[in-house]
Amino acid sequence: MPDLHDPSPSPSPSAPGDRDSDRDSAPDSAPDSDRDGSRDTYRDSRSRRVAALRPLYAKELAGGTGRFFLPRRPDCPWCGSARLRERLRTTDLVQRKPGRFVLDECEDCGHVFQNPRLSPAGLDFYYRDFYDGLGEQRLAGVLGACNAVVRRVTAAGHRRRAGPVLPFAPAPERWLDVGTGDGDFCAAARELLPATVFDGLDRSESVARAERDGRVARGYRGTFPELATGLAGRYDVVSMFHYLEHSTDPDRELAAARRVLRPGGLLLIEVPDPASPYGRLLGRWWLPWLQPQHLHLIPAGNLGRRLGDLGFTVVAEQHGEAHLPIDLLAGCWLLVNAIAPPGDVPWLAKPPDRVSLVLRDAVRLGSVPLLALACLLDQAAAVCGGRGRLANAYRIVARRDPAGG
Ligand SMILES: [Zn+2]
Repeated sequence: MPDLHDPSPSPSPSAPGDRDSDRDSAPDSAPDSDRDGSRDTYRDSRSRRVAALRPLYAKELAGGTGRFFLPRRPDCPWCGSARLRERLRTTDLVQRKPGRFVLDECEDCGHVFQNPRLSPAGLDFYYRDFYDGLGEQRLAGVLGACNAVVRRVTAAGHRRRAGPVLPFAPAPERWLDVGTGDGDFCAAARELLPATVFDGLDRSESVARAERDGRVARGYRGTFPELATGLAGRYDVVSMFHYLEHSTDPDRELAAARRVLRPGGLLLIEVPDPASPYGRLLGRWWLPWLQPQHLHLIPAGNLGRRLGDLGFTVVAEQHGEAHLPIDLLAGCWLLVNAIAPPGDVPWLAKPPDRVSLVLRDAVRLGSVPLLALACLLDQAAAVCGGRGRLANAYRIVARRDPAGG
């Protein structure tokens, strides 16, 4: 995501789905589960933290949300065209923080981007308590009890993600995963490539945890463009899984990748595909639009051409293989999350009353059959409709050209 002078928080991604999914797709209202065997302890601890944060959020919101946005830009940040049209208008469907967001689409190149963009204050406000703080506690609550199972299930998906580079680099020596979060991809891919040294980079403190727990050999914390200078020419492979869409300036991230790769090294990128039919079918309920966090949604052709301009040669492009069949399930979940009364979150002026909380639980419990049906339809569509045609994401592998600096 972002640049040095850009105070935006790390996209610790994990995209709609994946590490991504682990995170992006975990709505704030995800059901609280036992943590260390004690639901009450978890809820009490969370309530205390929410109460402590409420005055701080109230202070930030006292002047409205206007300062969270920059002026609307009149041209496409990808190609400069002034032919823009509004693609989507929505709200924060996951955390339900206040604010309205617009995605514009360039009529010349197809690039989709948040417009107006979030200001540095806005990036700070909307990322806060999503991947870290309350959000981290929420994720730990949801995932903690079955962490081992979750890690095992997602590990297979992580290993598949490493696959596209193997025909071109069967035994890379050093691999840098950018936006690594907790380092789960690195840990899983190491089972496939035991001789490879996997390092991770992230703006959040999670990367220190990944290094401490041995999931990455070295964890770099900070922005990629800033850290790239000290890592020049060091890596055989750089991966970015559901990272680039969070960046305020994707070009700088790609240039940083070129810098840290040795000549002939490989860049592996996986991002949501704004051309997916699900994007039109589900509209604002399509998880990969994820506002306000996804700042740029880049069509595959655009990314391939830009990589060529930057001194890469695209050697592989995958669509169906990158598809994660969760579109209908996630869409229904976002809908349920929007219908149910809000939970106890610090950006609400006061805690919800008992009746609201009971109603909230009832709506969520009542949605289980709908979610189960959506899950089945996702699987059926992936089989019958063809993953390639429906793909909600794509992967590109590009080789750094040997010539040049
Ligand atoms: Zn454009």
